[in-house]
Amino acid sequence: MSHAMTDATIEIRPSAHPATPEERAVRMTNPGFGRIFTDHMVVVPYKEGEGWGKGVLKAYGPLEMDPAASVLHYGQAIFEGFKAYKQPDGSIASFRPEANSRRFNASAARLAMPELPEAIFIGAAKALITQDQAWVPGNLGESLYMRPLMIATEAALGVRPSNEYLFVLLASPSGAYFPAGVKPVTVWISDDFVRAAPGGTGFAKCAGNYAASLVAQRQAKEEGCDQVVWLDAIERNYIEEMGGMNIFFVYQEKGETVVVTPELTGTLLPGITRDSLLQLAREQGFRAEERKITVDEWRNAIAEGRMTEAFACGTAAVITPVGHVKSRRGNWDINGGQTGPVAARLREVLLDLQHGRVPDTHGWMKKIVG
Ligand SMILES: *Cc1c(COP(=O)(O)O)cnc(C)c1O
Repeated sequence: MSHAMTDATIEIRPSAHPATPEERAVRMTNPGFGRIFTDHMVVVPYKEGEGWGKGVLKAYGPLEMDPAASVLHYGQAIFEGFKAYKQPDGSIASFRPEANSRRFNASAARLAMPELPEAIFIGAAKALITQDQAWVPGNLGESLYMRPLMIATEAALGVRPSNEYLFVLLASPSGAYFPAGVKPVTVWISDDFVRAAPGGTGFAKCAGNYAASLVAQRQAKEEGCDQVVWLDAIERNYIEEMGGMNIFFVYQEKGETVVVTPELTGTLLPGITRDSLLQLAREQGFRAEERKITVDEWRNAIAEGRMTEAFACGTAAVITPVGHVKSRRGNWDINGGQTGPVAARLREVLLDLQHGRVPDTHGWMKKIVG
């Protein structure tokens, strides 16, 4: 895979019809998540033998694609998600975007797609956030959600890696994921479907993982639950993730607070929020462990009062407490269905860091504008 022609500079072609300040204000009122988009997007094409071509920032709009484009048939498609936050001094910074760039390339490698140099990934984000900085909301819990993706665009029906790709970056103002406050969710442990198997694509952020998850999510809804909890594919016994988020369990052991998350076995998505929370938990004086945990352990630890909380984490919703668990193996409540103090504390610590309310001692915030 050649990167010979790689050029991180992005040509800026501003939209002839950007939203007026009034239109923007209307659209940014209660934006929700992933429903409105800024005026621009960035596209960068790739051709085997030539490498990554010139990136262009242009008006947000439809992509033109050949109906034989291989992504439409064989699904070479990956994505990422990170956020940019308004800082108290008026600048704009994003949270650990280099980690997203690295994970994007790990996903690309798994799907036999070309890696994208970090300079292009970050350069595209800088260009788009700078151009559309008026779309970055400023309140606590609000941000500009950045959605990078890569698809296979070669028109060819033979089953092999595409020789042409397109990198696209979109930006979407996002409100507090739960405007009414953090409300614990009810989860359904899925015995019928698996998200990822050893040797598969579980660690990659690829579109197909999500396509395969939707029927389980629908079943969870039918069972009266908000989200599905995934088990390992082999023994159907170890807890892996909750929907598109990683999961944590909180134990009280001999006066010590212990935060446990399933270890990364290759079938779990290595979340950047997960990694950040492991570090922040230790700094809060909690013990933090990565290990396997079974459904029986979950139920028994709750019944015996050793486990006091469970919560899920990810970029979009930050931290979501789990209040109730339903499954074919029984139902149980966690912390009376209420948000617990450890989830609340970690959420506050992470949001304070992202919004620049406390010093960034980890070097996690990357200044993008100002
Ligand atoms: C993106 C994602 C996560 C969370 O990753 P973050 O980097 O924390 O946003 C967890 N699980 C799945 C399946 C995901 O796709």
